[in-house]
Amino acid sequence: MQTQTSTLLIIGGGPGGYVAALRAGQLGIPTILVEGATPGGTCLNIGCIPSKALIHVADQFHRLQGYGADSALGIQVQAPTLDIAQSIAWKDDIVKRLTGGVAALLKKQKITVIQGWARIVDGKTVDVDLAPAKGKRAEMLRVRCEHLLLATGSEPVELPFMPFGKQVISSTEALSPKKLPKRLAVVGGGYIGLELGTAYRKLGVEVDVIEAQDRILPGYDAQLARPVQKSLKALSVSVHADTRVLGLSEDGKAVRVQGSTGAERSIAADQVLVAVGRRPRSRGFGLSTLALDMNGLAVRVDDRCRTSMHNVWAIGDLTGEPMLAHRAMAQGEMVAEIIAGHTRRFVPASIPSVCFTDPEIVAAGLSPEQATQAGLDVIEGEFPFAANGRAMTLESPDGFVRVVARRDNHLIVGWHAVGQGVSELAAAFSQSIEMGACLEDIAGTIHAHPTLGEAVQEAALRALGRALHI
Ligand code: FAD
Ligand code: NAD
Repeated sequence: MQTQTSTLLIIGGGPGGYVAALRAGQLGIPTILVEGATPGGTCLNIGCIPSKALIHVADQFHRLQGYGADSALGIQVQAPTLDIAQSIAWKDDIVKRLTGGVAALLKKQKITVIQGWARIVDGKTVDVDLAPAKGKRAEMLRVRCEHLLLATGSEPVELPFMPFGKQVISSTEALSPKKLPKRLAVVGGGYIGLELGTAYRKLGVEVDVIEAQDRILPGYDAQLARPVQKSLKALSVSVHADTRVLGLSEDGKAVRVQGSTGAERSIAADQVLVAVGRRPRSRGFGLSTLALDMNGLAVRVDDRCRTSMHNVWAIGDLTGEPMLAHRAMAQGEMVAEIIAGHTRRFVPASIPSVCFTDPEIVAAGLSPEQATQAGLDVIEGEFPFAANGRAMTLESPDGFVRVVARRDNHLIVGWHAVGQGVSELAAAFSQSIEMGACLEDIAGTIHAHPTLGEAVQEAALRALGRALHI
C-alpha cells in the first residue's frame, strides 16, 4: 500500500473541513483533505445552498400566481407554468459553481485533496479507499499525520418503521425531485420540514406537516413561530401538531398517525418527507477504534475542539448541536490556527440561527426566557414591521424585531426577528452582541431610511422607553 504523510489530515470536505483546510493552507501547514463525495459537504451539495435555491424558485412562482385580476399592485400576469426539471438544473448549476469554487480555493492554498472514503486505523493513520466504485478492486492509500481533524458531518435520522426508499424520502431527494408529488406529507415541523414543506406548497403541492411536539418550530420561542404558523395557514398547509406517526398505510397511499387523544387516522400522501433531525456521522469509518469520549453519537470536544485523544480534533455536525454551517466553519478556522500555534478558544457570544421559512426567523443570543433562566434581569423592546415603511413597500408588514438587554447596564444579550428578508439582519445582530453593544449604541447609530434595519434601531429605542415611530 502506498503511503503519504502530512502535518494535518482532515476527513470530510464540508464547510468545517474545507474552511479548516483553507486556513491551514494560508498558515503554511502541510494539509491533506480526504473527501468521499464532492467538496462542500452537505451544505453546498444537499443542504443550505440547494434548499435556498429551491425556496427562491418557489417564492418567485408563488408571487407570480398572486398577480391576478385583483392585484393591489396593478400587475397582472397570465397563470405561470413551472418546468421543475429546469428549476432543478438551475439549482444544480449554482451547486456546481460553488463546489467548483471550493475545489479551486483548495488548489490555490496548495491543499492535497484526495477523493476517497477514509477509514481510521489509529489517531495518526488513516486508510483511504480511492476506488469505492462497485465491482472495482479496492485501491488503498495510507496517510500518516501529526494532527487528525474529524469533520465527517451528519446524516438524516431515519424512522425505523418507515425507512427511506422510493416513497419515503429525506431532504436529499426532496431537493432534486424528478417530478413533484400531488400530496406530500412532511414528518417534522422543524427547519427542514418547514423550509422545504413551504417551498413544495408554493410549487403547487398539497402539504401536510406532522409534528410530534405541541407546535411547529419548537426550537424557537412561540412568539417567533406565530407569524410562520399564520402564513402556513394562509398557504393552506395543514399542520398536525401533537401527532405521532405510526407508519405507512398498507396500500402505501397514506401515513397513519395518532393524535394526542389516542385516536388513529390516515393522511393521504404520494410521498413522505421525513425531517425529524440529523445525527452526527460517527459510524462506519473506524472512529470507534479511537475510543474517544462521546456525547451519544457526537464526538465530545472542549472549547478548542480537542477530543479526548491528543492531536485528534473534531468540528461541525460531528460534534453535535447546533448543526449549522457557520459554526462548523468557525470551528474549522480556529483549529487550523491552534495547530499553527495561535491561542484560540471557541467561545462565541452568539451563533445566530436563521430559519428560511415564510416569513424568515432570526435568533441571536438569548431569548427573554433563556436570559431569565440564566439568572439575568432583562428588559426587552419590540418593534413591529407594521410600523416600518420599507416593510410596507415590500408588502410584508408581518413580524417584528425584538431586543433583549440587561436591565442594569443595558448590555444587549439577544436579538430576534421574524419577517420577510430578516435573514440579512443576522449580521447586525451578531456583530452587536459580539462587540458588546448596549441599547444606547444601537439607538444612537444612524440607520439608513427606508430599510428593515430601522426596526432594529427602533427596538433598541423602545427598550429605552423612547421609540419614535410607534
Ligand atoms: P458536512 O457538511 O456534512 O460535511 C461532511 C463531509 O464529510 C461530507 O462531504 C462527507 O461526504 C464527508 N465524509 C464523511 N465521512 C467521510 C469519510 N469516512 N471519508 C471521506 N469523507 C467523508 N446550516 C446552516 O447554517 N444554514 C442553512 O441554511 C442550512 N440549511 C440546511 C438545509 C438542509 C436540507 C440540510 C440537510 C442542512 C442544512 N444546514 C444548514 C446544516 C449544514 O448543512 C450543516 O450544519 C453543515 O453542512 C455541517 O458541516 P460539516 O462540515 O460539519 O459537515
Ligand atoms: P429539526 O430538529 O429542526 O426539526 C425536527 C422536528 O421534528 C422537530 O420539530 C421535532 O419535534 C420533530 N420530530 C422529531 N421526531 C418526530 C416524529 N417521530 N414525528 C413527528 N415529528 C418529529 O431537524 P431537521 O428539520 O431535520 O433539520 C436537521 C438539522 O439541520 C437542524 O437541526 C439544523 O441544525 C440543520 N438545518 C438548518 C437549517 C438552517 O439553518 N436554516 C435548515 C435546515 C437544516
